[in-house]
Amino acid sequence: MENHQDALQRFVFESTPVRGNIVNLSQTFKQALHQQQMPTGLRRSLGELMAASALLSATLKMRGSLVLQIQSKGLLKLLVVECNSDFGIRATAKWDEAVTDTQDLFELIEQGQCMITLDPKDEGQAYQGIVPLEGNSISEVLENYMLRSEQIDTRIWLSCNGESATGMLLQKLPETVNQITTTHDLDTWNRVCQLANTLTDSELLNLPAETLLTRLFHQEEVRLFEQSPTQFYCSCSRVSVANMLRMLGSEELESIIEERGEIEVNCDFCNTLYRFDKIDAAQLLAAEPLNPPSSAMH
Ligand SMILES: [Zn+2]
Repeated sequence: MENHQDALQRFVFESTPVRGNIVNLSQTFKQALHQQQMPTGLRRSLGELMAASALLSATLKMRGSLVLQIQSKGLLKLLVVECNSDFGIRATAKWDEAVTDTQDLFELIEQGQCMITLDPKDEGQAYQGIVPLEGNSISEVLENYMLRSEQIDTRIWLSCNGESATGMLLQKLPETVNQITTTHDLDTWNRVCQLANTLTDSELLNLPAETLLTRLFHQEEVRLFEQSPTQFYCSCSRVSVANMLRMLGSEELESIIEERGEIEVNCDFCNTLYRFDKIDAAQLLAAEPLNPPSSAMH
């Protein structure tokens, strides 16, 4: 049962500073990983991270992209997910070939780091926060991150069965001068978190957002906003690849051409292959960048 559409559903608990959102990724998840073979356990973890990227993205005011990365020196090298303000999501992973299907993400991590990058689309500086991996699940790691670096109380529930990935986030907005958190607000926060803790993976994965919210919070006053669709989206392009190559410098590019006859760049996210022959390479070195190099290209 997974007939509900891929979407992100925002909601607030009326007259309280508590808000949240729920995301369902089925097609988005499948399309994003369609070209990538990876061990089952890793695939599920990447699904959870994809759901988390949409949940966190929905809490941001800026337009641009949010990149979540888990890096480690163990058998897992990298999990990376990018979500833009229109909930276009892409994801990929790097791991040692010794990883098996049944291994849990946290068995594979050594000296892990969690990195969150906010890259505003129009103006403003990119922001990057790095914290050591604390916790035994992706949701725990991100909750700790939000509390430590953003001082925002955040609870996150994630689930992925290998076919679809879903998640729910609850957040208590911080106190401001005019908006003091009352005991009532704190009670609401504690109560809704307790209710949400009763959520099972099966409910999270199978119930449409509205049904889930009614089931969990039927005694609360929950206001739903319009749903936003989510989709797989890769921002790579020939122009962005050309800009990245240009940064390598003429010497490097010429030596690759000398050695292999052409330059091939494969996008890790969508598996698109970009080819540049000798003439293309000469042209791209002569030309000015068409747009600023995308920081999303690694
Ligand atoms: Zn791509």
